[in-house]
Amino acid sequence: MQKELKGRPITKKIYRQLKSRIELHKLKPKLVVIIIGKDPAAEYYVKMLEKKGKKIGLIVDTLKFEKDISQEKLLLHIKELNNKTDVNGIMIQKPLPNQINESQIISMINYKKDVDAMHPLNIGNMVLDQEGFIPCTPAAVLEMLKFYNIETQGRNIIIIGRSDIVGKPLANLFLRKNETGNATVTICHSRTKNLVSHTKKADILITAIGKPQFVKKEMIKKNSIVIDVGVNQIEDKEKGKIYVGDVDYDDCYHKSLFITPVPGGVGSVTTSLLLKNVVDACEK
Ligand code: NAP
Repeated sequence: MQKELKGRPITKKIYRQLKSRIELHKLKPKLVVIIIGKDPAAEYYVKMLEKKGKKIGLIVDTLKFEKDISQEKLLLHIKELNNKTDVNGIMIQKPLPNQINESQIISMINYKKDVDAMHPLNIGNMVLDQEGFIPCTPAAVLEMLKFYNIETQGRNIIIIGRSDIVGKPLANLFLRKNETGNATVTICHSRTKNLVSHTKKADILITAIGKPQFVKKEMIKKNSIVIDVGVNQIEDKEKGKIYVGDVDYDDCYHKSLFITPVPGGVGSVTTSLLLKNVVDACEK
C-alpha cells in the first residue's frame, strides 16, 4: 500500500483539466500578484506561478511596489485592477509593511477576483457553505483526502494552528455536511494545554504551525493519517538549506498509516488550486 500521499498525481490531473478548459472555452485567464518591497521568497513563488501558468495558458503578471507605498496609493491600484476586465484574479503577497492596513486592503479587492479567498465575503460564504472562493491551502488538504479516498466522516480530526489562512477555514470545511466533512474537529494552538493528549486522539492530524519537525512519533496515534501543511527552511549539515514540514517525517513514517511529504505534498496542490480559482473567475 502506498503510504506517502504525494501532491504530484493530483496537480497533474488539475493542470490537465485547467489546460483543456482554457483551450475549449478560449479563455484568457489572468492573475495579478502584488509584491511590496524586496522579498526573495515572494519573488521566487511568483516566478513559479508564472511558469505553471504559462504551461496551461494562464497569464501571471506581477506588480511590484516600494516598501514605503502608502495605503491610499495601494488602494488606488487595487481599485484600478478591480475595474480591469482582463484581470480575473488579484493576490497580495504577505507580509505587508507596517503602514498598510491589511484588512482594509483585502476588503477593497472585488470579492469575485479574490482568488486567494481572504475577503470577508468569501470567508463568510465559506462558513455558511455558500458559493464563493475557498482558501487554497485548506482546499488542497481536502483535495488530497478526496483523491486518496480518505474518509473524514465521524473521524477525530485534530488541527494544530489557528491561522486565518489555514487552521480556521479548514476546521469549518471539515464541519460541512458533505463527503470531505462530517468530522469531529479540534483546533489546537500555542496556548493549548497538554497538546499531546489531543494529538494522540487524532485519526487525522493536520499540522500548520511553522515549526520545523515539531511533531514526533510519540505525539501521534498508531495508524493515524498525518497531513503536514508546514513549510520551514532549515540548514542541513550535508545538504545546506532545505525545506521540511512541521512533522518529523522520518520519525513518524512507520507509525502513521498515511503521511504527506514536504516538499511535494500539500504545497504543490495549493498552487494548482490557486490557478484553478483564476480559471473559475475567468469562466464566470
Ligand atoms: P501562523 O499564522 O504563524 O500560525 C501558526 C499557528 O501555529 C498559530 O495558531 C500558533 O498558535 C500555532 N503554534 C505555534 N507554535 C505552536 C506550538 N508550539 N504548539 C501549538 N501550536 C503552535 O502560520 P500559518 O500562516 O498558518 O502557516 C503555518 C505553516 O504552514 C507555516 O510553516 C507556513 O509556511 C505553512 N503554510 C503552508 C502552505 C501550503 O500551501 N503548504 C500555505 C500556508 C502556510 P497561536 O495562534 O496561539 O500563536
